[in-house]
Amino acid sequence: MSQKYADIIIDISHEAIDRTFQYIIPETLLDEIFIGSVVNVPFGRGNRLRQGYVIGISETPNWELDKMKEIAGITKGALPIYTQMIQLAEWIRDTYGSTMIQALKTVMPVKETVGKREPKIQAPQCEIPPVVEKLNPEQERLVREFQADYMQGIRRTYLLHGITGSGKTEVYIQAVRAVVKEGKAAILLIPEIALTYQTVARFQSYFGERVSVIHSKLSKGEKYREFMRAQNGETDVMIGPRSALFAPFSNLGLIILDEEHDNAYKSETNPKYHARETAIYRAKLANASCILGSATPSMESYAKAMDGTYRLWELTERAGEGNTAKVSIVDLREELRQGNRSILSNELYQKMQAAFERNEQVMLFINKRGYNSFVSCRKCGEAMKCPRCEVSLSLHGNGYLMCHYCGHIERKPTACPKCGSKLIGGYGTGTEKVEAEVKRCFPEIRTLRMDRDTTLRKGAHGDILSAFSRREADCLIGTQMIVKGHDFSNVTVVGIILADLTLFDSDFKASERTFDLLTQAAGRAGRGEKKGCVVIQTYKPEHYAIATAAEQDYKKFFELELAYRRILKYPPIYHMLAVLVMSKEPELADEIAACVCQAIKESIREADAERDGAVIGPGEAYISKINDVYRRVVYVKHLQYNVLQRAKEKSEQMFAEKYQDTDGSVQYDFNPMSMI
Ligand code: ADP
Ligand code: ZN
Ligand code: ZN
Repeated sequence: MSQKYADIIIDISHEAIDRTFQYIIPETLLDEIFIGSVVNVPFGRGNRLRQGYVIGISETPNWELDKMKEIAGITKGALPIYTQMIQLAEWIRDTYGSTMIQALKTVMPVKETVGKREPKIQAPQCEIPPVVEKLNPEQERLVREFQADYMQGIRRTYLLHGITGSGKTEVYIQAVRAVVKEGKAAILLIPEIALTYQTVARFQSYFGERVSVIHSKLSKGEKYREFMRAQNGETDVMIGPRSALFAPFSNLGLIILDEEHDNAYKSETNPKYHARETAIYRAKLANASCILGSATPSMESYAKAMDGTYRLWELTERAGEGNTAKVSIVDLREELRQGNRSILSNELYQKMQAAFERNEQVMLFINKRGYNSFVSCRKCGEAMKCPRCEVSLSLHGNGYLMCHYCGHIERKPTACPKCGSKLIGGYGTGTEKVEAEVKRCFPEIRTLRMDRDTTLRKGAHGDILSAFSRREADCLIGTQMIVKGHDFSNVTVVGIILADLTLFDSDFKASERTFDLLTQAAGRAGRGEKKGCVVIQTYKPEHYAIATAAEQDYKKFFELELAYRRILKYPPIYHMLAVLVMSKEPELADEIAACVCQAIKESIREADAERDGAVIGPGEAYISKINDVYRRVVYVKHLQYNVLQRAKEKSEQMFAEKYQDTDGSVQYDFNPMSMI
């Protein structure tokens, strides 16, 4: 048998993970050492025995043999949680193509000193639904099934498809209760903590101090402290965004992903892991169950529920007060024909007026911030573009043009920079313009706006929601920030100003995103006793994403969308790898992209797997330049995931050989959430 060597990191929790040490594996231990093993190794000059973790095994030594030390032994009674986390890191490395160190940094609670305590964000005073002691029969059946499965040792993934307001949160709480009763812990992932105080508050009313919450505004030290509480068994439930998934519970029994379709579950930095897939793998390692919940499940998850991989659970009725809202579609082309040039259609205007008269509240949703989405010259057609990016500048109410990609800001010019004409005008509608229009139509109405510009300040989110909840405003206008999860019992009218905005994205997920947004936005109306209505304004009422959202028919949307994905070879039928090539020199970007494309094609040919896939590109990215960096793309679609993994490896080899020392760079993204 040949000699083997182990890459070992020493004492994960006490130092930043930045390097590994290679040790010889003694022959007597060859069969017992694998990735994730906890071992004792002589370390430093005194050769004091320290604990280390094996994160890689190879057959080639990196040092002269007589300078290398041997592993002393395997640690008995080591915390198995670290073994599990290292295995999870290994899976992340293999699945998403990162380095082991990147993967470890993602999953491991790396110690950071707890700095000065940051001031706590004031929780908004929102309406918090009362504790529900009697579940309804639909909920009851699901909770019982979960308990029965759990007690019998059955571990699986459940997909809870429940319309907004159907009481999914109560099902989560009862499922968590069931595992906590067995002495196990649970993790609840939510897309953006700042937006879901209501969920946190409800969990706290059941589990009190045994709930730990992390969010993006915590310092690294504070987050580490919460993770240590989990590790030491001081808490039973960890709630937080994506990274809460790595809470080091050694007795994990359940992972829940609320709003499982949300894009926030995909990491944007390396490793570009998806929290859903990673949660399912972690659950498998820990012998835990998973619950994925959504009113609009992702195509991926629903397809898996259809083929029996996941157990499908459905909640079809609103649980508490309130009925599903009545949805109507307004054809904006017709509106124009009738001479109405306002952003508000007649129908929406009338419904808002009636609501205001009854002292009820209104929410208006538009997926663009700013005043106008672009500014151009009426004489020569020149559009004002960002000097650093291939995008139009948005006009903001303060008279400034802003690039939403690099943050560039300039004053709106008084004359066209190309022809000198003074006829420059703004087009396209953003949140600020909607607010101005509401104020013009209803001068006595108090408005609040919630978008990235109004929520820069820490705690601003909560303040706006609290104020709206206290009825200090009659109309809340916002971007997708306002559509998720909030329960305002006095909101009876929800208006979607322009449903088509997300449809224009040249993206295979554009329809899915539109359907999600419309459904979630519609779910905001009529949460209380009063009847609610939703008005969807669109230029494309016949588009299936809009029509099925108005009918609130998820299943129909899913069938139509799946057929489209099948024809065009997109996920979830095919796997996809997106490759992004970047360089400050456009010619170099083109050249690298062409070589990447060639390397990938060769690799697929070598695997004799050309039939089951397609390579698209090279081409310009959707936004071909950001911050003076040129962007090119190659997309690979294939039925077999490992063909994509190999293609990536080949492309990386090619890059290392030819372009290592240039300013070019390449990023890989498996099953991306959108086109680049
Ligand atoms: P979802 O998460 O599915 O959108 P929630 O869990 O937020 O729905 O529940 C919506 C509302 O219904 C909440 O106010 C909740 O307190 C209430 N609710 C949930 N289950 C019941 C029940 N069994 N009986 C009465 N009210 C319920
Ligand atoms: Zn001009
Ligand atoms: Zn820019």
